Parts: sequence; structure tokens; C-alpha cells
Amino acid sequence: MAKRKKGTQLPPGVHDILPEEQRYWERVRSVSSGLGFRRIDTPIFEFADLFMKSVGAASDIVEKQMYSFRTKGGDKLVLRPEETAPVARAYIVHGMHTLPQPVKLYYEGPMFRYESPQKGRYRQFHQYGVEVLGGESPIVEAQIIQLFFRMFQALKIKVLVEINSIGCKQCRPIYKKILSTYYRSRSRQVCADCRKRSGKNILRVLDCKEEKCQMIKQGAPPIVDHLCDACRNHFKMFLEYVEELDLPFVINHYLVRGLDYYSRTVFEFLPENIDKEEASRAQVALGGGGRYDYLVELLGGRPTPAAGAALGIERLIAYMKQSNIEIESKTKPRVFLIQLGEVAKKKSLKVFDEFIKNKISITESFGKESIDPQLSLANKLGVAYALILGHKEALEETIIIRDMKTGTQRTVPLSDVVKEVKKGLRG
Ligand SMILES: [Zn+2]
Ligand SMILES: [Zn+2]
Repeated sequence: MAKRKKGTQLPPGVHDILPEEQRYWERVRSVSSGLGFRRIDTPIFEFADLFMKSVGAASDIVEKQMYSFRTKGGDKLVLRPEETAPVARAYIVHGMHTLPQPVKLYYEGPMFRYESPQKGRYRQFHQYGVEVLGGESPIVEAQIIQLFFRMFQALKIKVLVEINSIGCKQCRPIYKKILSTYYRSRSRQVCADCRKRSGKNILRVLDCKEEKCQMIKQGAPPIVDHLCDACRNHFKMFLEYVEELDLPFVINHYLVRGLDYYSRTVFEFLPENIDKEEASRAQVALGGGGRYDYLVELLGGRPTPAAGAALGIERLIAYMKQSNIEIESKTKPRVFLIQLGEVAKKKSLKVFDEFIKNKISITESFGKESIDPQLSLANKLGVAYALILGHKEALEETIIIRDMKTGTQRTVPLSDVVKEVKKGLRG
């Protein structure tokens, strides 16, 4: 076979979303909108500084994964790798602190990260997320968790939420020191990565997947034992709210989340029945989030407590498919128009248009001439009715309505066909 020309190949890590895939996307979008949050869309690219300042210069995202480029004017821009920072920027720029607080927003759209392409991970991927800005109470995080649960439930996915607190500016540095001291005295027993992390990235040791580090990790002092009074209170209240929700959760002392801007509460949603030993956590989590009380201030706004969560839509859909969760297309046609002969074909465009105008989902196969292939296609599509416009019907201004379930047929005046089908679909 001839090698495909470069122009028709896709760059690694991106994908087409074909028509037959769309029903999954429709479903995810329909369950995730209209949950009392207002939609926001921000540009695909922003100044690089936005992410350097917020996500953190030492993070994997900024260090290795950003698609950055210089414009002809010399500006350094990046394709957005995540959406919390852009939403926080928009909150500041548009003076949303003057609106009733908290401001509840949601978004959905493509993000870009230069990662090694692997199953379920793309360089252009889509995220859905919510952000609640201007809310200090832990009820905010609890509500976000509840909302994501509701979504997973609507998609028939069973999840478990893991939660933790990673403290604040006051108590986290103290805990980091304690953790460093603990790891330093065991540096010979841990992997090279963990040894390296002992500096500024010490919390990341809790993420380590190396076999030899697991025992050490389990003996490490948990952060919840070292929270300041304010953080401990916040976490306690948060747990009380979550208990009220009556959903499966566990405290995971090792949950830290990779981004710099998180403070206090962090959480992740995991499929309820996964083998965590086998799968690396980064690959199995279906979503996550947390509180980010410093982000708005960090970007130049006034101090604004906030929290949010996000999920990757490609991964979610991959999980749905893998778990055989079937989704019916909402736009599945209900009616199939069959035309036979030249006179009928000429009339059929107008009939088709009448159904579109009346918002009844209809399809056809104008390329086919005889009845059998058209009927079998109608059958395959699972439509409720096939309309048969033959030569005789076309001359007499009538049309046959065939009930695909029972196989019964009746002839009606062409001018009544929309009305008749409507009646049938309703009943
Ligand atoms: Zn604290
Ligand atoms: Zn390690």
C-alpha cells in the first residue's frame, strides 16, 4: 500500500470526533450543562505568564507540556493547558467580584498539553469543569462534589471520591519540613525520583508509584495531623457536609494533586471498581479538583477564596465504552423517507424540508433507487416510520406511512403527512 502523504496524516496525540462518536459527547454535554452554573468561554490562547504565575513554573505542565509560541509582535503565548487560571483571569478582568458571590461558572472545550500520547490521553483534549469563585465555606467543595456525582450517576458511572486537605500558606511549609526530614533519614531506601523531590517538590513523593517507596510512604506522617487550626476546622466541616451527601468517599492521605495553586481541600473521582495497584492513578482518575484560595490574588486580583473541579471528556468516554455503557443518540432519526422514481424524487426534497421545519428528525437515501435497500436502511436505523413516496403516490399527491414496528401501512394525503406522523410519534 502506498504510504500516506503527510498532508492527510494527523499529528500525534490528536483525533477526529466522528459522527458515530457524537452521541457520547452529546450525552456528556447534556448532563453537564444546566446544573445552576453559568457557562463561560475563554480564548484558546493566553499570555504564557498567566500559567507560569498560576500553575507554577516548577510544575510538569509549565516545564514540559505547554504549547508556547511567539507572535510576530513578540508576545509569548500558549495554547491553554487548563482552564482554572483563565477563568480566574476572567473573574478579575471583568470585575466579577461586584456580582453576588460566589460566582458559579462552568466551561467545556479543548485544552492542549504536550504529553507522550498513550491510550486515552491526547495532546488536544477536552475538559469540562466548574469554578466557584468568592466562596469560603467548605459547603462549596461539597456542592461541587455532589454535582460531579450527579453527572457520573446520569452517565451510569459508579465512582468513589477520595479526599484530603493539603493545608494553607501557614501550615503546609511546616508539614513539608516534617516530610523532608522523614524522607531524608530514609533517602537510601527510596527511588532516585523521591530523593530528588526532597527539595521544593517534596509533596510529590506521596505520588510515587515505585514499589520500594510504598512502605516508606505508608509510614510518612499524614498531613491532616499537621494542619493549622483554621485548616483543620475547614476540613472537619467539609467532612460533615460530605457525610450529609450520602455518597461513597474515603480520605486518602497521599492525595496531593500536581498544581501549585491548590490549598486545603483536594479530591479525585475514581471508578468504584478499579485495580489501583495495576493502574497508575493519573490514568484512572475520572476527574478531580480542589480549593484554590490564593489563585485570584496571585494573578493580581483581591483575595478571593475559590474552588473547582474538572474532568477529561475523552477519558470519560473511553471509560464509558470500556464499561459497555451504551448511549443512544438524541438526534437519532425517527422517520425515513423512501422515494421511488423520478417524479417522486423531485417531490421528496420538499417533503423532507417540511419535516425539518417541524423539527422532526428525518433522514433519507436519495442516492438509492429501489425500495429494498432503502427499507433495509430504515430498518437498520431503527426509525419509527418509513414514508414511501412512489410514482403513483407522487402523481396523486399522497404518501404511504409504514409503521416499522408492526409493518402496517396506510396512505394519507401528502399535505397531512407531517400531522399524521406527529400524532403517531406522540402516541
Ligand atoms: Zn493551614
Ligand atoms: Zn519513590
